[in-house]
Amino acid sequence: MSATSISRIPGLVSGLRHTFDTGITRPEAWRRAQLGRLRALLTERGSEFEAALHADLGKSGTESQLAEIGFLVSEIDHTLAHLSRWMRTRRVAVPLAALPASARVIPEPLGVVLIIAPWNYPLMLALSPLIGAIAAGNAVVVKPSELAPATSALLARTLAESLDPRAVTVVEGAVPETTALLDERFDHIFYTGSGRVGRVVARAAAEHLTPITLELGGKSPVYVDDSVPLAETARRIAWGKFMNAGQTCVAPDYVLGSAELLRELAPLLREAIHELYGTATHRNPDYGRIVNDAQFSRLVGYLDDGELVTGGGHVAADRFIEPTVLAGVSRDAAIMRDEIFGPILPLVEVADLDDALGFVTSRDKPLAAYVFSDRPAVRRRWERETSSGALTFGAPVLHLIVPDLPFGGVGPSGMGAYHGERSFTVFSHEKAVLSKPLVPDTLAATIMPPYTAAKDAL
Ligand code: NAD
Repeated sequence: MSATSISRIPGLVSGLRHTFDTGITRPEAWRRAQLGRLRALLTERGSEFEAALHADLGKSGTESQLAEIGFLVSEIDHTLAHLSRWMRTRRVAVPLAALPASARVIPEPLGVVLIIAPWNYPLMLALSPLIGAIAAGNAVVVKPSELAPATSALLARTLAESLDPRAVTVVEGAVPETTALLDERFDHIFYTGSGRVGRVVARAAAEHLTPITLELGGKSPVYVDDSVPLAETARRIAWGKFMNAGQTCVAPDYVLGSAELLRELAPLLREAIHELYGTATHRNPDYGRIVNDAQFSRLVGYLDDGELVTGGGHVAADRFIEPTVLAGVSRDAAIMRDEIFGPILPLVEVADLDDALGFVTSRDKPLAAYVFSDRPAVRRRWERETSSGALTFGAPVLHLIVPDLPFGGVGPSGMGAYHGERSFTVFSHEKAVLSKPLVPDTLAATIMPPYTAAKDAL
């Protein structure tokens, strides 16, 4: 990665604004052409992206295809299939008092938008918002994460080659470059990452009254009761937790269950991990690495917070941590304070459903909550009594690939949502257009002064 020179940033942004003002990003044909080129880039040069993701995070080719490249290709296809409809002007009804008149909603692009991406899915989380921004007809700056330097460099090179360089620019760099970008005026900022930096972004955006989307994180709970098949439950939890070595914003963070249930679930989680990754995870190419030394040390510090059910092994030189399950974790242990964001799964005992609901609702609203229960009354209580970006029954993480489900957080886990049509609307302004003939002058007869007894009666 070579950081973009800070002195170039104001010029890059004003260049994009000039491009937007010329109108070249508005026609549907331009948007379609850009999305088509992005699709070709991902499919024809997928192996280069796989190599970059492997260099940054030790991601396996298959996981990169499934969770990053393939996801993006599906999103482009969905967008291309629906774009004409999304772009269409919508007629809306006019109340009697305003007739005769017609009213329409016209979606229009916002202008120049900034996308700031994190390192954990460094390709998908940079390009998924970009698909929406282009579909909506904007000029865009993409700022990939400096903590995934190979992917950042590849994005800078390939997007410049594949997309219209007048309208899409990659700025590479870390805090100084992002700070310089945030000094500029944008028409929308789409940020994915931690709440700490989300606040920095929100403060900078306030200076220009720029609308923002914040895709943040948090501790996504899992609740399991004895009404479900536990071996299958364990396999799904292990899958959601240990993909990308636990560095997934919607990864199950911890598991709540009764003492008896957790006693049964713990060995099944160990078996599930062995089924998915074998017993020699260190040598398994399907299992990822921790992004950097600071994250590695933070995670290793959690390993003493409970009794080891499985895992615990770690190799600093490789930033490798075995898929780990900890039992008997206390509610105020360090591992239960911050989002774990790594391959360690604490099992936390609750007395009953009330206790589980009380525990979850007393904390920050999470990005997702995952419930494994076949009891309708239990499911209903999670639906009614808890708030989270998403709530799923029977499978973690999967809601992400349903384009019509809004993807986003609530409260400390984020604001705004995207995916599918929402990725288009988040980068659009819905302009209200009203058109009323001057003759007959119904307004004079009804709502303009002088106010008369006849008008009072209306
Ligand atoms: P981060 O906030 O450290 O970094 C994200 C981006 O912000 C990077 O591009 C970085 O360059 C920039 N940045 C960092 N410090 C900055 C500063 N002081 N000023 C301006 N810009 C700055 O986040 P991260 O560590 O990359 O990501 C981890 C967090 O992101 C976790 O909490 C995770 O749950 C969350 N996350 C959320 C989603 C989602 O879709 N909701 C997806 C992935 C990650």
